[in-house]
Amino acid sequence: MVLPLVDEANPKCTACHAGFGSMEELREHRRREHGEPGGEKGRSGPAPGDVSLF
Ligand SMILES: [Zn+2]
Repeated sequence: MVLPLVDEANPKCTACHAGFGSMEELREHRRREHGEPGGEKGRSGPAPGDVSLF
């Protein structure tokens, strides 16, 4: 069973748990606030053991 990593209707930052109105806002926030390259999740790249994406 695979659960969605992010609710696209109400996405939240996985790092600071702030809520956003769209995935684009969330991605922009994570790029600016957490220095992410625009990935799906994680603080600075894939988490150890995460082989689902990238
Ligand atoms: Zn954040």
